[in-house]
Amino acid sequence: MQTMKKIAVLTSGGDAPGMNAAVRAVTRGALSKGWEVMGVHNGYAGLLGDEFQRLQARDVGGIVHLGGTVLGSARCPEFVQPHGRKQALGHLAKHGIDALVVVGGNGSQSGSASLAREGFAVVGVPSTIDNDLYGNDVSIGCDTAINITLEAIDRLRTTASSHRRAFAVETMGRNCGYIALMAGIAGGAEVIALPEQELEPAEVAERLRAAYQRGKTHALAVIAEGARCGVHELMQYYGAHRKSIGFDLRVTRLGHVVRGGIPSAADRVLATRLGAAAVDTLAESARGVLVGMVRGDIVITPLEEITGRTRPADASLLELARVMAI
Ligand code: ADP
Repeated sequence: MQTMKKIAVLTSGGDAPGMNAAVRAVTRGALSKGWEVMGVHNGYAGLLGDEFQRLQARDVGGIVHLGGTVLGSARCPEFVQPHGRKQALGHLAKHGIDALVVVGGNGSQSGSASLAREGFAVVGVPSTIDNDLYGNDVSIGCDTAINITLEAIDRLRTTASSHRRAFAVETMGRNCGYIALMAGIAGGAEVIALPEQELEPAEVAERLRAAYQRGKTHALAVIAEGARCGVHELMQYYGAHRKSIGFDLRVTRLGHVVRGGIPSAADRVLATRLGAAAVDTLAESARGVLVGMVRGDIVITPLEEITGRTRPADASLLELARVMAI
């Protein structure tokens, strides 16, 4: 068993609110065990570019409430190639790093898995608003992103109601409709469109038309950016059938707005628990794993098991949303 002396932490891929709380938890958790901690700037690009910084307890002070990541994040195509990882491993060795904690999403944890395969001690912490990581129920950043989406929905509802409008809100989430599903249920959407589901623009329009006929003063469609029935398709269909639908349609694309902002209490607590658990996992000599939260418990899953897999949103909840929209 290797005795841990010095670890590094980095944030990678799409930034997510709560990443800072995770970095703080990893740093302070490790310092409390007597280890040294290095922060790596700009994700895997910083491993390749030798951007290391010693982190002490005070260096991660005043960041628990900040969105984004103070370490910076990046996408690094070179890291996907063996020669890129060789360079990264060289820098980790130069700094005497025994293990690395990677805070990031699906792509980033594929990167962790590659490093683990090459013999380096890595632990992944799931952080992505996409919430598409296998081995973990809800990733760091999702709760905040859902709440930002919901706030936008609530504001749009006020104006939509005054003008008898339907509004379509597109939210981020790449290939996973988790944010759209949760914000749609919480926001009382008439229609929710997810990548995980077959849905034609005609059906969306039909549900908006039906809502109009039931006497609603507004209607809401929440569309995940990766949905097959995207806002473009919906707008096109709507343009051709506008008169028969009743409502006027307005589209709002939230884009990166849902990723910014102050992390919610839930994201800060989750990030703190998972960051500390990553350190405990290393202390117990587990390596090459993702530290996730499943049904409220910390669960360790081998990175090999999660790569190439995604966690879909629970499309069975769509039926619940439908019942609530009568
Ligand atoms: P996220 O972690 O938010 O899903 P990306 O998919 O952009 O973000 O991945 C972040 C980085 O992880 C990439 O820029 C790349 O450096 C690394 N990465 C992604 N996939 C792999 C892979 N299969 N092998 C090695 N590294 C990878």
